[in-house]
Amino acid sequence: MTSLSLVPALCPDACLACHLRAQQRSCDGGLTAVEQWCDEQLVDLRVVKRFAHEHGGFCDCEVLGNVLTGNRRVLDDVVLACR
Ligand SMILES: [Zn+2]
Ligand SMILES: [Zn+2]
Repeated sequence: MTSLSLVPALCPDACLACHLRAQQRSCDGGLTAVEQWCDEQLVDLRVVKRFAHEHGGFCDCEVLGNVLTGNRRVLDDVVLACR
């Protein structure tokens, strides 16, 4: 029997912020993890990129540090940050 408590808590919204936080590697200076998330969530990368750039996020760690800073962010019904 597998205990449910052993399953790590997943983001109910599968949001970008949690995806970036879960990245185990360091930032490579690009939007690699953002692109991957857009791919998986079938989100338009161009829209997310424009939003990120407008808020000072030009690489994965800047998106987390400058764009998705603590508040819930929703862009066109897509949850970028759950909290
Ligand atoms: Zn970075
Ligand atoms: Zn989340």
